[in-house]
This record gives sequence, C-alpha cells and structure tokens, in this order.
Amino acid sequence: MLLDELRGRLEDSLLQVEDALVHAGDASVTVMPDQSGAACLSEMDAPQLQAMATGIRDRLIQVRMKIEAALARISAGCFGICCQCEGEIDNDRLERDPAAVFCATCMVEREIHGDRLVDF
Ligand SMILES: [Zn+2]
Repeated sequence: MLLDELRGRLEDSLLQVEDALVHAGDASVTVMPDQSGAACLSEMDAPQLQAMATGIRDRLIQVRMKIEAALARISAGCFGICCQCEGEIDNDRLERDPAAVFCATCMVEREIHGDRLVDF
C-alpha cells in the first residue's frame, strides 16, 4: 500500500515545519528580510508585525500537530480512517493531504457548520 510513501512525505513535511518553526522562533528577525524589508518595516508598527509573526507560528504549530497526529495514526494502524464516521478516507484525498483526518463527506459537513477547530 502507499502507506510507506505517505509516511515518508509526512516525515519530510514535519522536518520542514520544524525548520520553519526554528526560524519563526525569533519573531522580530524572521518576518522581515534584512535589507529590502526596511521600507516595509516603516509602514508597519510593531504590534502588527508581532501579530503577523505569531499567526505564522501558530499555524506552523497546528500543522506540526496535524502531521504528528497522522504519523501517530500510522503507527497505531488506524491511518486513513475518518475521525468522525470511522469510514475509510479516499486514497486520492490522502495523497493530496496525507494528514487529512476526515473523509470528504465529513470534511464538507464540518466546513458547512464552520466547526474547524476539531480539524487538527
Ligand atoms: Zn467521515
């Protein structure tokens, strides 16, 4: 099955996210490039910059949790099972997003209800 391939992709993504998180650690440095960012910098005040950096970091942390959860499910042997209806998640869907936790039907349902928080 394509499980090994997906696991490899998840592990790659995890490394990338970890790397990005290391760089996102120091908010004030990462958001702006050294020289060319100087002009932008003057147009934004510090709280805005801080909020932006925090947003990026939060998103990275969420992505990391999602990937780690997917890897844990692979280890536990329940990978590819929808967390809501316990049906199988399409291979297509998993190839596009190996960290998907819901089948297409449940995902659409969740989007309609705006219940995105549970989608780690
Ligand atoms: Zn489902």
